[in-house]
Amino acid sequence: MLPFKLVYHPAYDLNLGAHVFPSRKYHLIHDRLLNEYFADPGDFVEPRPASDEDLLRVHDAGWVHRLKTGTLSLKEVLRLEIPYSEEMVNGFWLATGGSILAGRNALRDRIGFNIGGGFHHAFPGHGEGFCAIHDVAVAIRALQHEGLIERAIVVDCDVHHGNGTAAIFDSDRSVLTMSMHQLYNYPSEKPPSTIDIDLADGAEDAEYLDRLRNALTVAMSFEPNLVFYLAGADPYREDQLGGLSLTMEGLKQRDRIVFETALKEGVPVAVALAGGYARNTDDTVTIHCNTARAAKEALMQQSK
Ligand SMILES: [Zn+2]
Repeated sequence: MLPFKLVYHPAYDLNLGAHVFPSRKYHLIHDRLLNEYFADPGDFVEPRPASDEDLLRVHDAGWVHRLKTGTLSLKEVLRLEIPYSEEMVNGFWLATGGSILAGRNALRDRIGFNIGGGFHHAFPGHGEGFCAIHDVAVAIRALQHEGLIERAIVVDCDVHHGNGTAAIFDSDRSVLTMSMHQLYNYPSEKPPSTIDIDLADGAEDAEYLDRLRNALTVAMSFEPNLVFYLAGADPYREDQLGGLSLTMEGLKQRDRIVFETALKEGVPVAVALAGGYARNTDDTVTIHCNTARAAKEALMQQSK
């Protein structure tokens, strides 16, 4: 039995068909964790879809309504860059419920883990870059609303800048946003996060890990009640939509640094997966599974 729960639903798959975003990765990760005996079926919990009340703490009513009723304009669908379907909408609602649950679980178990979510390019009134609903922002606001947390940090290690996160929490003093990303990559407009770490094309493990450690030290002085970690697999050197040069081992060290830094200070960590577009989808699956392994190792280390 794992010391934390893996939040997962078979309907996380966004039904994208042949698309650079391998949304079948969620069930591949689920299967891999079972097949490699890292987890057993009792370690998984299924989320419920997020409620409208939850979504509306972040999103405009019109955007939520148009998503639910299939009445997005052509321009809105093009900006999302994924085909519209009921399954897609259902997947976002479930992934958002999953991040809320992972946040709750983190407060109980010190680690919460959503095998999904991390849709950091979603804005209150529009979606873009494969992201329709900002699950992590919805989760943070839900936990704050329930009085479970006051302050949170978003540590975004996806290779792409967390533009939606930065915009949503721009004037919110209760949430510190940190984005570590490739500077010359999507999105072209990058609204400022509290802490932005701009990396040059081709940045490697040593520089990445060094800058991560330094930025995390600054971020933790915010004294958060929760860290939300977006563990994107796309800083990997074989990624089709990323231009950094991190190795698998470097990415695993990245995960360890985030978990250990937070746990050492008694701050729980909730994980959402975010992007991952390796030429070989198996690599993306391995990187995400390694994040779950790193979480377990960091917890065990901390419990000694
Ligand atoms: Zn990304």
